[in-house]
Amino acid sequence: MIDTHSHLNFKVFDNNYKEVIKRSFDNGVKAIINIGTDLKSSEKVLAIANEFQNCYAAVGLHPTDIEKENFDPKKYIDLVNSNPDKIKAIGETGLDYYHITNNAEREKQKEIFKKHLELAQKLNLPIILHCRGSKENPKDAYLDLLSIISASPFIPQGVIHCFTSDLEIAQKFLDLGFYLGFTGVITFRNASALLEVVKNVDLKRILIETDSPFLAPEPHRGEQNEPSYVRFVAEKIAEIKELPLKEVIEITSQNAIKLFNLPRTQNL
Ligand SMILES: [Zn+2]
Repeated sequence: MIDTHSHLNFKVFDNNYKEVIKRSFDNGVKAIINIGTDLKSSEKVLAIANEFQNCYAAVGLHPTDIEKENFDPKKYIDLVNSNPDKIKAIGETGLDYYHITNNAEREKQKEIFKKHLELAQKLNLPIILHCRGSKENPKDAYLDLLSIISASPFIPQGVIHCFTSDLEIAQKFLDLGFYLGFTGVITFRNASALLEVVKNVDLKRILIETDSPFLAPEPHRGEQNEPSYVRFVAEKIAEIKELPLKEVIEITSQNAIKLFNLPRTQNL
């Protein structure tokens, strides 16, 4: 199993991330991609990747963090160039309208997202998309994200992480060549619409992830999440699609290896 989206760089893991990583590798996780959310945390995911052979990194400025940092693409380019073997994606980046109410903030998120698209092109890396709609209209951010990507002169490869929208939106991302990343949300009791998406999307286009420390899957819902729990996401997909767990693990791992260009030599 490969946990394609984790934040072991977050403060809550400061005291035990090594332990958490070892436990994950002991429990069948073959690789972990940790995701930066601003420049500082992007430096930290690289530091963790340098410490553990099968940890990799993604770097970017999260849409909810754009007020905290003046986004400077050059700094991210320098970071990637400092260790291109370990930094496998740009992100997470995208749109998050959940807590914002005014148009100016939406426009700023869109501008910074477009700069991440340029970064992905310049560095020839896939992109990790974050998307969360407003409370009034949960699809709005997804539709805006789709229209920006469709209008872009360059469409990178990538994944829409923690996918929680419906089949219609899923199909639009699939049509653009994106993978869908599923988290522990699919194990939650109220996830029936999302289960339709999992059921209908080709396993070859699915990635599994935890989004640790958030979104711990059942039976650990409400606890601090960690990469070893990615197994519960794989198990739920196997159940929904009526496939052997082994096949789900095998195919989603191959998907991650392909998208993030992970070395096949390290027993993944
Ligand atoms: Zn995340």
